[in-house]
Amino acid sequence: MRVVVDTSLCEAHGECVAVAPELFDLGDDDGAVHVVGEASDEALREKARGAERVCPVGAIRLVMQDVLQS
Ligand code: SF4
Repeated sequence: MRVVVDTSLCEAHGECVAVAPELFDLGDDDGAVHVVGEASDEALREKARGAERVCPVGAIRLVMQDVLQS
């Protein structure tokens, strides 16, 4: 599962970082969150789904790898 953030929507309040610090980091350069890891196991996938749920602006998208490869 790949995690994608639409930085044009992100308001950088950090909810996703609180839920999944392994996957997200608040950069101090452009006021948007950055994806810093892949949801490579079930624990991280659950955290990614949690971050997607808490994002107030719907900026987080989870993409299954097999969709990307087809
Ligand atoms: S939860 Fe959404 S709006 Fe908030 S920092 Fe993360 S991606 Fe940005």
